Amino acid sequence: MTGSEQQKITGSPEETQRVAQELCRTLAPGAVLALYGELGAGKTCFIQGLAEGLGVEQAVSSPTFTIINEYRSEPPLYHVDLYRIRSEDEALNLGLDEYLYGNGITAIEWAERVESLLPAKTIRIHLTMGDTPDERVISFGR
Ligand code: ADP
Ligand code: MG
Repeated sequence: MTGSEQQKITGSPEETQRVAQELCRTLAPGAVLALYGELGAGKTCFIQGLAEGLGVEQAVSSPTFTIINEYRSEPPLYHVDLYRIRSEDEALNLGLDEYLYGNGITAIEWAERVESLLPAKTIRIHLTMGDTPDERVISFGR
């Protein structure tokens, strides 16, 4: 793994999960993580690392039909995947606000679909493909 505080380059899914686990230790209840990146970029993989860091024992997969999965860690982890929503209103109708302003850790895939709903505290994480098939560039910002 290489990179700076704001950017990490990982060479495997396990490394991406480790980056997430490290971030996990710095998160306070109520944290919101917005994940951006194309299909296969590693958003779900990153959230699996968060879950591991929070001690979730259940397997974390992409919610296919559900849009929000809750895991009973302390604080709880809310895994939100907005791939299938068509509007911010639809997200609000699903109760997204309660997660964004609740006391869990909320990690959102396809966060660009609700960009204007994201709180100021949101930590933005961009995942992009690297130079090799197993390389990913993970950038952090606000
Ligand atoms: P997304 O949720 O962004 O669509 P996934 O996390 O479901 O992406 O899938 C990422 C895929 O890329 C997985 O098949 C994973 O094994 C693979 N992969 C290869 N290298 C990496 C890496 N460095 N970090 C994360 N995933 C990787
Ligand atoms: Mg995914």
